[in-house]
Amino acid sequence: MSDTFCDPTQKQTQMPQRFSTMEVKRKDLRDTMMKDRPPMKHSEPQPNVMKPGFYLVSTPIGNLRDITFRALDVLSSVDIIICEDTRVTGKLMNAYGFKKKMQVYNDHSTDHQRENLIIAVKTGKSVAVLSDAGTPLVSDPGYKLVRDAVAGGVYITSVPGPNAALPALQLSGLPTDQFSFLGFLPPKTTARQAALKKWEAAPGSLIIYETGPRLIDSLQDMRIALGDRQAAVVRELTKMYEEVQRGTLSDLIVHYTKVGAPKGEIVVTLGCAVAELISTESIEKQILSALKSMSVRDAAEMVSQATGKPRKTIYTLALKIASDKK
Ligand code: SAM
Repeated sequence: MSDTFCDPTQKQTQMPQRFSTMEVKRKDLRDTMMKDRPPMKHSEPQPNVMKPGFYLVSTPIGNLRDITFRALDVLSSVDIIICEDTRVTGKLMNAYGFKKKMQVYNDHSTDHQRENLIIAVKTGKSVAVLSDAGTPLVSDPGYKLVRDAVAGGVYITSVPGPNAALPALQLSGLPTDQFSFLGFLPPKTTARQAALKKWEAAPGSLIIYETGPRLIDSLQDMRIALGDRQAAVVRELTKMYEEVQRGTLSDLIVHYTKVGAPKGEIVVTLGCAVAELISTESIEKQILSALKSMSVRDAAEMVSQATGKPRKTIYTLALKIASDKK
């Protein structure tokens, strides 16, 4: 996971910088955010009065200003912060001017460590759960802890905020009414194609987390397993060099073969199956046009190939259209 974050107050011409070298005026950043903050209602959690429990806190995926007021409240007030990597979260805390003790919690943490955290909550502690970036538990650690916390009957709440999947879908230009999140695909091609094949008939768009070095191979496997769908490669969300490439999988394969594997963090979004995108009206028009110069069989064959719809379905439709024409 990259720990490159960008400060939106810097000029667009400047390179994104790492926390360690970034001249963020920490106090200014926090003060501005607190100044803009809307007045709290009584129903909202108050800083420094933390109910014992786990607080699942989302953090920026690049742009430091994407932190929420509530996340700042929680981070400033909790007793314990647990995170994947204390160096990564330490830089984040430092940028907001917080000095806090942190403990490592990740997918390798033991049942015993989880038990101790649950005991800490049961004895009155508030615990913020963070991942390196974005929403904990979304392709990041935290699931086992929440599972055990649910079983242990302790309070858990979400402090929602940034994640990479939904902004990528928003920017892709693909249908957003239904979608499936696949997370990371297997690294090897056979397993990757098999994993993708399971989603062939899924309705709606697909969202996949990817890395630059694997992108071209992965796009090729997507085309083999799912057909040449509309897709988007969304890179470096919320950062200085945010970029979206849209087109069919073939277009994207050609583009990245030409320019080389992209750098930075990547989400791939795919449209639903090619056949689903084509309306019946458009198929009927294609059949009518083909019947002007072809037999029913040849017209059906051509339209089936062009639309990806089953040959038998198109043949039946072509027969009906041809007989209606008479
Ligand atoms: N928990 C995170 C979330 O809520 O999205 C995801 C963590 S996962 C370990 C990291 C992956 O998320 C990256 O490999 C990339 O696929 C995606 N990602 C994270 N930040 C991103 C960004 N700024 N732009 C594009 N993709 C990003």
